[in-house]
Order: sequence, then structure tokens, then C-alpha cells
Amino acid sequence: MTTDAPRSELLRLINGFQASQAIHVAAAFGLADLLKNGPRSAANLAESTKTHPVALYRLMRALASLGVFEEDDGGRFSMVGEFLRTDVAGTHAPMAQFVGRPNVWQTWGHLLFAVRTGAVAFDHLHGDGVWTYRARHPEEGNIFDRVMTAGTERFAEAVMDVCDFGRFRHIVDVGGGDGIFLAKILASNFETRGTLFDQPHVVWRDAMRLRFPEFADRYESIGGNFFTSVPAGADAYLLKWILHDWDDAASIEILRSCRRAMKPTSRLLVVEHVIGPPNSAPEGKFMDLTMMLMNGGRERTREEFATLFAEAGFRLTCATPTATTISLLQGTLDGV
Ligand code: SAH
Repeated sequence: MTTDAPRSELLRLINGFQASQAIHVAAAFGLADLLKNGPRSAANLAESTKTHPVALYRLMRALASLGVFEEDDGGRFSMVGEFLRTDVAGTHAPMAQFVGRPNVWQTWGHLLFAVRTGAVAFDHLHGDGVWTYRARHPEEGNIFDRVMTAGTERFAEAVMDVCDFGRFRHIVDVGGGDGIFLAKILASNFETRGTLFDQPHVVWRDAMRLRFPEFADRYESIGGNFFTSVPAGADAYLLKWILHDWDDAASIEILRSCRRAMKPTSRLLVVEHVIGPPNSAPEGKFMDLTMMLMNGGRERTREEFATLFAEAGFRLTCATPTATTISLLQGTLDGV
């Protein structure tokens, strides 16, 4: 018996961009938040969002066919699931916003260029690296930071399930963004102090102190450049979604900054996707394409992490999978 399933599946994948863009537009208009208190018609939502009622109806009808919304017999829509809402922990709303921003969407539109040349598409398009671009365009920087916070909110718990952070008196979160990971660690480890280290314009917003004032006496934030130095003398140096932003040479420099700051007993804690075996684990492999296009970075295999650690003077002691798609890699200073 022949089946058309592989052919249909291929077409579904080919048209994947349509679903991404449609969900992006739903998120850009905040439809999920507007549906929080019950079903509404597209015409009614169009008034709240100042959009075209018929066009909005057609968008929502298409998304309901994919199970994002549900349309009832009276043409009213409700939300399926809550993760497009902005007010739930681990929300996907920032990601849905982010992927359709022209700076991201156009960069993915240059995948062909990137594969042909090996150059970083974002830099080619914007004449700047992502970090300079985001610093110059605070709106884009804020959206990116919200994506990180939402993602980390989801992953932090899973990492804490496989690592006892309470054994560290002082943790530096290197490139910690808005500080959500540190906040989670401090919330369940009462003896631990945390230092958030990130670029000055990120730290300056002080998002964590605003959101979690209860940690004021166990928390400080320091702005700087992790290629130059990071705060010295902590028991653990946490790097989540840092090394994947950079090529090997830059990653080794960041690790060496950590090494210089460490005590002999300090631990390195790296949280990243670990590239899985062939024909599986698409999350890390597509994140890898994002890194290739946006940053010139990469996701790595366990062996590649071991080499990177060794070149920066660390020994990779373990790579522990979590209940999510990311892993915790631990390192000690080599020769200690
Ligand atoms: N660790 C956070 C954020 C990861 S995004 C999380 O997982 O949620 C990468 C972070 O690196 C951003 O917050 C960015 O501002 C920071 N960063 C980039 N270049 C930096 C530099 N040269 N020095 C310090 N931080 C930097």
C-alpha cells in the first residue's frame, strides 16, 4: 500500500513559514491576552486592536485550523492553551513576537546566502553584530531579553532539578540578562548570594531588582564586558545560552575570563543544548541555525564542549541532560 503521508508532511514543513508569521501577527496584536476572559468575535477583537475585521477573521480562522484558537458555531474565538498570553510563566508570546520582527525574519530570509558563503547573515544585513544592533535599538533589545527571560523561566527549574545550587554560597550569572535564573536560584536557596553580570545597558535596567525586591540583600548587579573580566572569587560561574552565541575562539576567551576570576574550588556551570545523535533532536539543530545566522555562534556536541573546556583550561566533569531539551555541563579548573 502506498501512502501520501510523507509528501503531505513535506508540504506542511515547506509551508511552516506561514504558521510562524500568522502566530507572530496574533502575538503582535496581543490576541491571547484579549481572549483571557472568554470567547470573542473577530469583529469585536478588531475594534480593540484597530485592525480590519474581515482580515482578522481570516487570520484567526486559519490559526484555528491549526489548533491555536478554537472557533465556535457563533464565529467566536477562544484561546487553546495559555502560552501565547504574556502573563504566564514560560510564555511563548515574546518568542512569537521576536521571530516576525524584520531584523529576525529577514535574517532567516538570508539562509541561502549564509549557506553559500558561511558569512553571518545578520551582520551582512545590518552592518553590525546583534549586540551592537540591540544596544542601538532598545525596543529590539527589550524583545530579545523578554524571549530569554521566558525561555529561562521554563528551563531554570529543570536545571535546578539536576543540580544542587545550595552548595554554592556565591554564584555569578555571566551574561545573565534580566536575572530570572538567578532569581529562581535565590528563591529556593536561602544561603546563596547572586551576582548578575551583563552588558552595562542591560544591567542598568535592573529588571530583576524591580521584579524581585525581596532578594535585595542577597543580590547585586555589575555591568561589564565578559571578554575583559568577570567578577572574581565566586563559588560558581553560570553561563546559560552564552557560549552558543560565539565561535570557538570567542568562547575560549569568555571561558578564560571566568578562569581568571575563579578560586581553585570554583565550578563552571554551562547550560546549553547538546547536539544530539543524527536524525533526531531538532530543537538544538535549529537553534544552531539561528546561531549561525544571527550571531556566528553554534550549538555543540558533548565532545566539542570537552575540547572547548580543555582549551580554556577546564576539565568537563559531566554533561547532565534535564527533563527539557537542554543540558547542564559542569567544569572544574584543570590541574586542580
Ligand atoms: N543567560 C541569559 C541570557 C542569554 S542571552 C539567559 O539564558 O536567559 C546572552 C546574554 O549575553 C545577553 O544578556 C547579552 O546582553 C549578554 N552579553 C553579550 N555580550 C556581552 C559581553 N561582551 N559582556 C557581557 N555580557 C554580554
